[in-house]
Amino acid sequence: MRVLSGIQPSGKLHIGNYFGMMKPAVELQEKGETFLFIADYHALTSVTDGAFLRKSTFDVALDFLACGLDPRRAVFFRQSDVPEVTELTWLLSIVTPMGLLERCHSYKDKIAKGIAPNHGLFAYPVLMAADILAYQSNLVPVGKDQKQHVEVTRDIAVKFNNAYGQVFTIPEPSIREKVAVVPGLDGQKMSKSYNNHIELFGEKKDTRARIMRIVTDSKTLADPKDPDTCKVFALYRLFATEDETRRLAERYRAGGMGYGEAKKMLFERLWNCLAPFRARRAELEKNPGYVESTLRQGAERARAEARRTLDAARRAIGVD
Ligand code: ADP
Repeated sequence: MRVLSGIQPSGKLHIGNYFGMMKPAVELQEKGETFLFIADYHALTSVTDGAFLRKSTFDVALDFLACGLDPRRAVFFRQSDVPEVTELTWLLSIVTPMGLLERCHSYKDKIAKGIAPNHGLFAYPVLMAADILAYQSNLVPVGKDQKQHVEVTRDIAVKFNNAYGQVFTIPEPSIREKVAVVPGLDGQKMSKSYNNHIELFGEKKDTRARIMRIVTDSKTLADPKDPDTCKVFALYRLFATEDETRRLAERYRAGGMGYGEAKKMLFERLWNCLAPFRARRAELEKNPGYVESTLRQGAERARAEARRTLDAARRAIGVD
């Protein structure tokens, strides 16, 4: 089974990214052949500063390696190091109906936010389809917000296979329901674009301050509280054991515990859980040559695979 996922280097990674995408991907590397890449070409739809993009790409590489990505098991690379994927994007665009792209929530949301609708933004899902199909991926672990893009990929693959013959494996999205959407400080989906996030490798002071800002209801210290609607609790359970989670839920329901105390518990738990990752990241940061050569070796393996698929697609379509 081949597992593939990608992440854009468009800013610092946060705990929503970690639980929604990085952790599942790292766990899956034990079960199947994993391809993981840094989607720098996708990031170009929102990042216009080259120096920032370069730095973010490096930071994301560090983050993944620190969080347990093992380059001996997984193929880890930069999207832009595999030109076969951009070539495949064109072949796929031939069978991609405009309406399919017009219906994409992510595109509509970006337009609604006032982002200029250029072709890159519109064709974003076709590039994503090429990412997935180039490696004949079976499973694509992503957060809920990316599910539609994987469905679009399936549609495109089926259309191509029907029109030109069996070239692509039809992929499945893999969404972890328990952590499908990690809430942010304001209760909306955690996202760097809402600035409601907690960085995975943020400064201690800033991390604590952000946790103290999580929005809660106006119950007094004595009031019983509902763990099922509380965002502090929702974040705590991601880091705690089942026992710890149950104990905190009991204390919430009993009353007599304030949100301030729960936030302190969340901070302690989160900070301690991430300590080994922070230590590994600090080590890797001292060795940028290792990080770069890891990405290059990954790209070589990825290119060999993408080349095979691209050749098959070109043959099928009549441009070999
Ligand atoms: P952001 O919303 O911060 O810009 P991205 O859209 O770059 O994050 O998402 C990168 C990956 O992380 C995707 O697979 C996405 O589904 C996942 N992800 C992002 N935010 C969350 C969240 N709050 N909960 C779960 N998964 C998330």
